[in-house]
Amino acid sequence: MLPKETEHLDVTILIVDDDPSIIVTTSKALNGLGKIIFATNGPDALMLAETKLPDVILLDAEMPDMDGFEVCTHLKQKAETAHIPIIFITSHTGSDFEMKVFDAGASDYINKPLNPRVVLARASLQLNYKRALERLEYLSLTDSLTGLYNRRAFDTKLALEFTRAQRAGTPIALLMLDIDEFKQYNDHFGHVMGDACIQQTASALLETIQRSTDFVARYGGEEFAIVLPDTDLEGAKYFAESTLNHILNLNIKHAPTAQRSNVTLSIGYASLTPSLEDLYKSLLKIADSALYKAKENGRACIYTSL
Ligand code: GH3
Ligand code: MG
Ligand code: MG
Ligand code: MG
Repeated sequence: MLPKETEHLDVTILIVDDDPSIIVTTSKALNGLGKIIFATNGPDALMLAETKLPDVILLDAEMPDMDGFEVCTHLKQKAETAHIPIIFITSHTGSDFEMKVFDAGASDYINKPLNPRVVLARASLQLNYKRALERLEYLSLTDSLTGLYNRRAFDTKLALEFTRAQRAGTPIALLMLDIDEFKQYNDHFGHVMGDACIQQTASALLETIQRSTDFVARYGGEEFAIVLPDTDLEGAKYFAESTLNHILNLNIKHAPTAQRSNVTLSIGYASLTPSLEDLYKSLLKIADSALYKAKENGRACIYTSL
């Protein structure tokens, strides 16, 4: 529903080695860095990685039956675990071995016998790197004023849901929402209050969505978009009406020069069951021109051309 900022209070580290003494040494070296979980064979490692989604994995290259390379390959093939950095622990050396490690998709390797300070430094490096990437991803998808998805994330997510609707043969609804006479609000109350009004509207819009697949984005300045997968035109109309009322009931006082005493929205909505040739931009176009019609019809109302 909202772009998620990853919590880093609860770092989980998975250590995998068939030699329990290595698990003990590694755990001690990483003490305080996060919660340690461990496995002594490949299948258990896979199970733990998939269920606990650790932040980093220290993985013994040499284990009976399923070795570290096999475990690594499995994890890199799955979308949920592909991003977890893997550090091999190995007694092998040499450039051929090094290449094999990186070819398997691992991020680094540590040689046995283990030096606890090296273990700590290498694991910290991978954790910091992963954290920075996640932060960057969060920032690239988020609007900083409201915390909603930004325009870039909206485009990606709408395209994805549209393709899903095409495959499933289900309807997808889109609402375009714009604050009425917002220029007057800014002119009267100033930009700081204007920002606060946008924030309050954004929070209220978030409250209106119910399903985990629905999402709200800040489309532009005082314009928002809401995508409702698996929702037909009647459902979209009901949703648009209740959103209109929800914002009206916030009772945000508008500028004295505005047509209405409270801040209102105009909403254009559309829903279609896309055929394989349809483009998601066509849905956007329909909802956007419906928004203009709602403005033409006097604002503070909903409209669809369908
Ligand atoms: P309409 O009812 O036709 O939508 O009129 P409007 O005044 O809302 O529309 P217009 O596009 O003329 O003005 C939009 C205003 O929104 C102008 C712009 O300064 C303001 N705005 C856009 N982004 C922000 C923002 O992030 N913060 C603040 N405070 N104002 C913003
Ligand atoms: Mg071993
Ligand atoms: Mg406006
Ligand atoms: Mg606008």
